[in-house]
Amino acid sequence: MQYCSHCQVRVRGNKKDCPLCGNILPGDDGACGQQEIYPVVPPFYERHLALRIMIFASVVALVVSFVVYALFPSSINWPVFALFGLISMWLSLIIVIKKRHHITKNIMWQVTILSFLSVVWDWGTGWRGWSLDFVVPILFVSAMFVLYVTAKIMKLRARDYITYFLLDGLLGIIPVIFLLFDWIHVLYPSVISVAVSIIFLSAILIFQGENIKAELAKRMHI
Ligand SMILES: [Zn+2]
Repeated sequence: MQYCSHCQVRVRGNKKDCPLCGNILPGDDGACGQQEIYPVVPPFYERHLALRIMIFASVVALVVSFVVYALFPSSINWPVFALFGLISMWLSLIIVIKKRHHITKNIMWQVTILSFLSVVWDWGTGWRGWSLDFVVPILFVSAMFVLYVTAKIMKLRARDYITYFLLDGLLGIIPVIFLLFDWIHVLYPSVISVAVSIIFLSAILIFQGENIKAELAKRMHI
């Protein structure tokens, strides 16, 4: 065990400085101090099956999209959008896993900010409509997957994610406005977003109805 002469305490574990005052400890006085108090636990997400499945699915999706595009060329280079979609989804996931606190809130902030930025960027560069055509609906759908996978991997309690699941489900329905007001040129990302959101919301309401009621009651102080 090491000894801090400043605080006059013994310090357990393999520490370089005193946890109380920050003074550098003189070093070990015996063999017994070498053991760490806490066992070193490898981060669980590195070996989690869901992550491996997602990595595999991303690779397959990319390969397929480029192959289909090569065989059936279209005027829009949509595999590139798929690539950017996947990159941003993975960036979000990495940020989310690294920032463990308020994970779900963090995801919702990312989605909101990125959607807003893409619309501003699109508008600023002569409004070609790609933000509403692709970015916004893809972000909403990706967020649902990221939220779901995060909740599973992190083994979050329903109360930690339910509000954000609901919020994202509701956001995902917004592209119905793009469709109704004819704001977009490419329909399928928005259609997919609305469809996935409705399925996602109904799944939450059907399977997590009780948790939603409890959480809403708490938040609204009903
Ligand atoms: Zn000390």
